[in-house]
Amino acid sequence: MAERAFDNVAIIGAGTMGHGIAQVCAMAGMEVRMFDLQDAALQRGLDKVHANLDKGVERGKVSADERDATLIRLAGTTDLETAVDGADLVIEAVPEKLELKRALFSEVEALVDDHAVLGTNTSSLSVAKIAEVLKRPEQLVGLHFFNPVHIMALLEVISHPGTVDSVIEQIKAFGAEIGKECIYVKDFPGFATSRLGVCLGMEAIRMLEQGVASAADIDTAMVLGYRHPVGPLKLTDMVGLDVRLHIGEYLASELGNPAFKPPALMVEMVEAGRLGKKSGQGFYRWD
Ligand code: NAD
Repeated sequence: MAERAFDNVAIIGAGTMGHGIAQVCAMAGMEVRMFDLQDAALQRGLDKVHANLDKGVERGKVSADERDATLIRLAGTTDLETAVDGADLVIEAVPEKLELKRALFSEVEALVDDHAVLGTNTSSLSVAKIAEVLKRPEQLVGLHFFNPVHIMALLEVISHPGTVDSVIEQIKAFGAEIGKECIYVKDFPGFATSRLGVCLGMEAIRMLEQGVASAADIDTAMVLGYRHPVGPLKLTDMVGLDVRLHIGEYLASELGNPAFKPPALMVEMVEAGRLGKKSGQGFYRWD
């Protein structure tokens, strides 16, 4: 059998994205360690992987043996050093805050071997600005996955000016192993995906604020009128209003475009803890 691009993968953050990335890597045969700060967050992530795989077995998409083997390859820890020990790929999926990601990668870089590739799942932030704090910036690449990770086929690969070709080659092989279609994008705020997707989401919220139509009807407009698989408000619920708020603030300031500025309704909902699917309530109720 051909060698894998990476054998040992560490995932930092076990939330909406982290658990899904951990799942697809473990399903592809990699040994995976997932890290989160608190036991409860870690356990929630591990439980979600379990539930996704059980559902896959129920639907005949995954065999019971595959599920069991995947779960054996996936471990969880709240100790960062244990998580990244021996990892040849570390992917972070922590909140969309530049300083947090910079601090995390500085810490991780000091704990891993020189050859380890570092991947950030940022949706919008400058990969180059994260790389600035590293001693080996050439090892950092943007690896933008989509939600839910085990279903969505796209992997947006973002190289910053210092990323070396050998890293991109490894990521190409990795993308094929986990069954994703890679697109290669310049390090520009919002990349090729979030810049368009978030713009639509923000405008849909402004339309809701202005009473143009109900949330369900705004979504139906895009689903039936434009053949989008999911409407922009339901998608914002699935992504997390807090996550999109951070992306919107960043893009508004980096691109100098007020279309990205989070509408007041969104700010109020986030302050009230109405974060979408993950909190059970957003523009819709999620049970
Ligand atoms: P989330 O809020 O669901 O999960 C974040 C997790 O990180 C939480 O479990 C939290 O406990 C943990 N965390 C916080 N600080 C940490 C730290 N210092 N070390 C380790 N873990 C820490 O967020 P998410 O939706 O998974 O988003 C994570 C990243 O992925 C963001 O950069 C976001 O922009 C990006 N992203 C999100 C989506 C989406 O649809 N939600 C899609 C693509 C990319």
